[in-house]
Amino acid sequence: MLDNLTQRLAKVVKTMRGEARLTEANTAEMLREVRMALLEADVALPAVREFIAKVKEKALGEEVIGSLSPGQALVGVVQRELAALMGADLGPDATQLSFAQQPPAIILMAGLQGVGKTTTTGKLAKYLKEQKKKKVLTVSADVYRPAAIAQLESVTKQVGADFFPTTANDKPVDIAKNALDWAKKHYHDVLIIDTAGRLGIDEAMMQEIAAVHAAVNPVETLFVVDAMLGQDAINTAKAFNDALPLTGVVLTKLDGDSRGGAALSVRHVTGKPIKFAGVSEKLDGLEAFDPTRMANRVLG
Ligand code: GDP
Repeated sequence: MLDNLTQRLAKVVKTMRGEARLTEANTAEMLREVRMALLEADVALPAVREFIAKVKEKALGEEVIGSLSPGQALVGVVQRELAALMGADLGPDATQLSFAQQPPAIILMAGLQGVGKTTTTGKLAKYLKEQKKKKVLTVSADVYRPAAIAQLESVTKQVGADFFPTTANDKPVDIAKNALDWAKKHYHDVLIIDTAGRLGIDEAMMQEIAAVHAAVNPVETLFVVDAMLGQDAINTAKAFNDALPLTGVVLTKLDGDSRGGAALSVRHVTGKPIKFAGVSEKLDGLEAFDPTRMANRVLG
């Protein structure tokens, strides 16, 4: 078991008790430990660098109050800054979904295959139906994998929402438009569009999802990312963030044993709030994202 950050810093600062301020000299070695801890939590290097620079700026000159050691003071700065970067500074409303002025509100789901997009679509439909009392329609724009369409139909039925069938010969843009027409006619409050995922980032896929976005102008475009992806999360996030005006992120598989460094990497790249966390395979396994809890998890 790795030491948590407090324990690591305690070892470093044994020799410097009694110092009243955090200085360039007494923080340098501690910041190296913070950097190692973040890399071990699988945060991508550019995000680590940005974070360390920020912590350094905040920490220098900080008074070490009362019985705190310089290490504890620095841990305090790290915890505060990490929670802020995870989204604590965005306020509690940041995790709320927006709804269109005029229904149906469209939610577009984006992300690689296998990250949990379809499962999350089912979870969202359940959440919106039960917690927000919305009438929800789902549709799959994945014309390449009939199994994905059947999976969406199955999870949608399980949560008691409505499902718009996809014809494999239709184009994704037409599917989205047809589903929107249907949703309008049948007074749905929300239409969730699940999209095709590929195993890797490819140009054709990005163009396709950008075209779906342009055709229906969603009020929410959610990037779904797997917490287990670790450092790779940064490249996927970049590709989707460049292709689409994302409005938020869903971080899935947080019930796994990853430390969740992907959260920081994705925030670093997109700047968008992480709105939800996926915490189980089951359809009730969706929680509002908690930045402070996530910061503590990354620190170990
Ligand atoms: P998609 O290809 O992105 O649509 O991914 P799926 O929704 O098919 O999910 C891929 C796998 O991840 C399935 O086995 C899901 O049950 C699983 N999964 C999705 N979300 C979570 C989660 O939050 N926790 C866990 N443990 N498994 C999840």
